[in-house]
Amino acid sequence: MTTIYLDYASTTPLLPEVAEAMRPFWAENFGNPASAHQFGRKARRAVEDARELIAQLLGAYPDEVIFTSGATEANNWAIQGLVPHSAGVLIVSPLEHPSVAEPVQYLTRRGHRLHQLRATREGFIDLADPFLDSLLKADLATVMLVNNETGVVQPVRELVRRLEGRVRFFHGDAVQAVGKMPVHFHDLGVTTLSLSAHKFHGPRGIGALLVRRGTPLQPLFLGGHQQMGKRPGTEPVPLIVGMAKALELAEKQRESRWAHVLDLRTLFLKHLEKQAGPIHVNGCLENSIPYLVNVSFPGCAGDLLLARLDLAGVACSTGSACSSGSLLPSPVLRAMNLPDDLLKSAIRFSFSHVTSEPEVVAAAERVAEAVAALRTG
Ligand code: PMP
Repeated sequence: MTTIYLDYASTTPLLPEVAEAMRPFWAENFGNPASAHQFGRKARRAVEDARELIAQLLGAYPDEVIFTSGATEANNWAIQGLVPHSAGVLIVSPLEHPSVAEPVQYLTRRGHRLHQLRATREGFIDLADPFLDSLLKADLATVMLVNNETGVVQPVRELVRRLEGRVRFFHGDAVQAVGKMPVHFHDLGVTTLSLSAHKFHGPRGIGALLVRRGTPLQPLFLGGHQQMGKRPGTEPVPLIVGMAKALELAEKQRESRWAHVLDLRTLFLKHLEKQAGPIHVNGCLENSIPYLVNVSFPGCAGDLLLARLDLAGVACSTGSACSSGSLLPSPVLRAMNLPDDLLKSAIRFSFSHVTSEPEVVAAAERVAEAVAALRTG
């Protein structure tokens, strides 16, 4: 029995073309981009070409792309680097990833004031929240583009327009959006935007923060002049080259990948409804990316189901890998006010363009068997 991987929202395998683009930069072209000699110049050219390509693909200027070790760093940096050291006012969505939610909590412990937006049952931030009209001034609002547990696309541009002039900075976590749907940094109107290569078949350990020109963002690290001193540290050239290649491929194939994955999600849900019903899809399916779907199986405990599925050869998750290990129900689903039986039986399945139809059909069968065993047991 082969294991079926349906956890691509957690991480994705490197594509062969990406590995090939990275290969020369491990050993042959190993120079440090800060060195003035030929080795260094070759490495610098690769880094700057990658920066330009990523900027062009995401609607930014090249000097607005700052490489980081991933999105956890990029989110921490944006939140801690944008907010003044004296008491500030922060606005955060209740749907955020821990790498946003926890730095925000950290700032509130240091005296900043926090307003948490409301979420709707459908998994959106609630634009009907009267707070949005009554707010006078805030320093930072942070809202993700696509939720990592439900796939629901958030109305970030609408929120930015609504609060413009009253909120100084906006941060968008675009980790689950980049490479899957169109993302244009300048059109969104945010100040900073985070992304991570391993979510779109690039290497792990590399991401970026896009930072609007002229933004007074405090560096998180000190001790070097790399990346204009904004993010010092020797640039990991192979990873940077890999991220650019993976994004280029994702953008080139965006529409065909989306269409294939949408077919997979439809097929998977059809089979689940027929064989593992009753099921409940959490979050508004019509306004979600098709790459991930959150399904509750009333009558089953999510953690037991997950363990059974692992034994049955289906790799999936109950939520964010970064909060797994926690026995508490997902804060995201809780913010959506789901009833207890849906909250506790929720599983996230996520797909990629490399997933096949027979895989999702077989996975649905294995899920149905596990669900039946738990419901009767
Ligand atoms: N934000 C979101 C929405 C995510 O899904 C993730 C990955 N789980 C992160 C941030 C963290 O990204 P990284 O793994 O690059 O640190």
